[in-house]
Amino acid sequence: MDNFVCPKCRREYALDDPVWRCGCGSPLDIRFHPRFPRREIRLTRPGMWRYRAAIPIRRDNNIISFHEGFTPLLPLAFGRRSALVKLDYSFPTGSFKDRGASVLVSKIKELGIKKVVIDSSGNAGAAVAAYCARAGIKCEVFLPAGTPLGKIAQIRAYGARLRQIPGTREDTARAALTAAAGTYYASHYWNPFFFQGTKTFAYEVCEQLGWQAPDSVVLPCGNGTLVLGADLGFRDLQSAKIIRHLPRIIAVQTARCAPIYQAYRGGSPFVPRISGRPTLAEGIAIAEPLRAASVLRVVGETGGAILAVTENEIKEALRNMAERGFFIEPTAAATIAGLIRYLKRSEKMETVVSVLTGHGLKSAEKIDRILHG
Ligand SMILES: *Cc1c(COP(=O)(O)O)cnc(C)c1O
Ligand SMILES: [Zn+2]
Repeated sequence: MDNFVCPKCRREYALDDPVWRCGCGSPLDIRFHPRFPRREIRLTRPGMWRYRAAIPIRRDNNIISFHEGFTPLLPLAFGRRSALVKLDYSFPTGSFKDRGASVLVSKIKELGIKKVVIDSSGNAGAAVAAYCARAGIKCEVFLPAGTPLGKIAQIRAYGARLRQIPGTREDTARAALTAAAGTYYASHYWNPFFFQGTKTFAYEVCEQLGWQAPDSVVLPCGNGTLVLGADLGFRDLQSAKIIRHLPRIIAVQTARCAPIYQAYRGGSPFVPRISGRPTLAEGIAIAEPLRAASVLRVVGETGGAILAVTENEIKEALRNMAERGFFIEPTAAATIAGLIRYLKRSEKMETVVSVLTGHGLKSAEKIDRILHG
């Protein structure tokens, strides 16, 4: 049976139930049996919906899509090593969050919901706002005051209602949770349908490698929507006996706000309460990540690691990529900083995959200040 399952109290809910968290307060997981008809997949147009049989949406006419995904997997050299980098900054709204938004908003349409609430540091809000615009669903986006203007302008342009909340990223989350009480919470980290979209990252990588898993993947980690989504995708392919081993998951945090890294380094399953400091990588500055315990489990089970990169490393990665023609936002440069560090200790024959998560045009003024200020 396909269901929501609560990992804490084991309670189950039908997937047609408009719940986004368990009655016990825990976030929910989705239990679903994906299929991978490889011949059909090969004959379908490139895009994330080529894995239609692995995505829990019932009716095709509920799918909200821009024919996005199947982003290029490009080899890039860093010093003496190289990695394959997935160009997820080329999604319609300029970040990988479109993977999650496409599936989540399709589900929202399927449920017949007409209005949703989301909070975000910018990109998830932009992605959900765009897909809601395409679906004709009303959307209210809560953002921290001080979000780069490019992201604000983008969200406003899609016709979403904007609410800028003073204080920390967590204050914004609390304001959205309160507002969500009366409507549906389309949160990228609470709502498990979002992860049913980000998992397509793993499907695409494996198909692009000839239905093989890479050895390691280096991914950003704030809330962990890509870390946990990718892991879910790799596990689906392993259960389907398409790949044999799970890749090591290397999660990259910013040293200015690294609660999961701190728990990992201390060998503790408990994530400390921290207050994050301002960072160039505002998109991964999450002081209280909801699914931190799952991130620690995934990193441990795959033999991966968690890295925390400095502001200087982020700046250098941003410059390095820009000079090679990749205009990415500072948050995306943090992952590349982690990749550069990881490649120094990787093995010679190791297949390492990473990602460009967000487009530079979202933060153009900020980037100009960093590189030329
Ligand atoms: C959302 C985002 C991340 C990190 O995703 P999490 O789900 O918070 O781990 C990384 N880079 C960019 C550009 C993002 O928008
Ligand atoms: Zn529960």
